[in-house]
Amino acid sequence: MTQFPTPELRFAKHVGFGIYVIDTGMIRPQSESCYVVLMRSPSQYHVAIIDSGTNNSVPRVMGTLEDLGCSPEQVDFIILTHVHLDHAGGAGWLMQLCPQAQLIVHPRGVRHMVDPSILMAGVVEVYGEAVAQAEYGQLIPIPIERIIAIEDDVMVDLCGRMLLCLDTPGHAKHHICIWDAMSSGIFTGDTFGLSYRELDTVAGEFIFPTTPPTQFDPKTLRITIKQLMALNPEALYLTHFGKVMDVPVLCERYLKMLTLVEELGQALKSSQNRFLQLKEGLLNLYTQELRDHGCQLSDSQISELLALDVDLNAQGMDIWLGQVSKSNG
Ligand SMILES: [Zn+2]
Repeated sequence: MTQFPTPELRFAKHVGFGIYVIDTGMIRPQSESCYVVLMRSPSQYHVAIIDSGTNNSVPRVMGTLEDLGCSPEQVDFIILTHVHLDHAGGAGWLMQLCPQAQLIVHPRGVRHMVDPSILMAGVVEVYGEAVAQAEYGQLIPIPIERIIAIEDDVMVDLCGRMLLCLDTPGHAKHHICIWDAMSSGIFTGDTFGLSYRELDTVAGEFIFPTTPPTQFDPKTLRITIKQLMALNPEALYLTHFGKVMDVPVLCERYLKMLTLVEELGQALKSSQNRFLQLKEGLLNLYTQELRDHGCQLSDSQISELLALDVDLNAQGMDIWLGQVSKSNG
């Protein structure tokens, strides 16, 4: 059995099998994570980083490598689950700092990593210039020759540790999940939704879909989830947030929430002020389900904690409903 280092870590926690979850610090503690995965060759550790976080989180990733006694040259791969900027915004800078690394991304994500200006323009449109700069900073383009576009069902060989990349649309069309046979776990990016530790209760973890602009598609997402569950994972490594187990129970909860979200959308699809109604409807839905889950937070604590998700998820659902009505009309 491979031994993995467990030193004192400033920004990360070892969650077993040489997998380290880094709290990127985005928005608040325990909101967003990325991962370092290790594998030992006879002479040294080899490193894969899964998701980069934003530029603001790059120092935490580098600090974690340092705490683990790994040099930036030991990073073989930086794997992006998808190119939404909270996951991929720091990838360009991280690639500069890790000179041996190759970037692995869905084929649909490649052009955005070579030229991140479209992604940045999208963020400026949603948040405005000042917030976009503060949250994401300058996005650094990645040379195309350092990028590997991964089709569905491709193994990445981290020095004998096989990481299977799977095409997993539903949250976004440019999404991959990574099956790690060593830990029987899946790095799920946003495909398996959001599960914040503040919302844990005696009943376990609360989990719900993340449905932001512009490619949320519940039908496809459901098919993807089925495919992932066929692997019988023992753990999920979520971006938001951390490692969760008890996967069959969580999957049931997640699919129930997906159905409720979809029904809410269908009920509001023809309403005027659809976006505002979606926002209100989502917050009510989350709050109601959290109450059933035994959550003790007050209504205002819940609405504060989930404010950004409510806003983004309503935007994404609004776009989804617009697409549905267009394809039906
Ligand atoms: Zn995303």
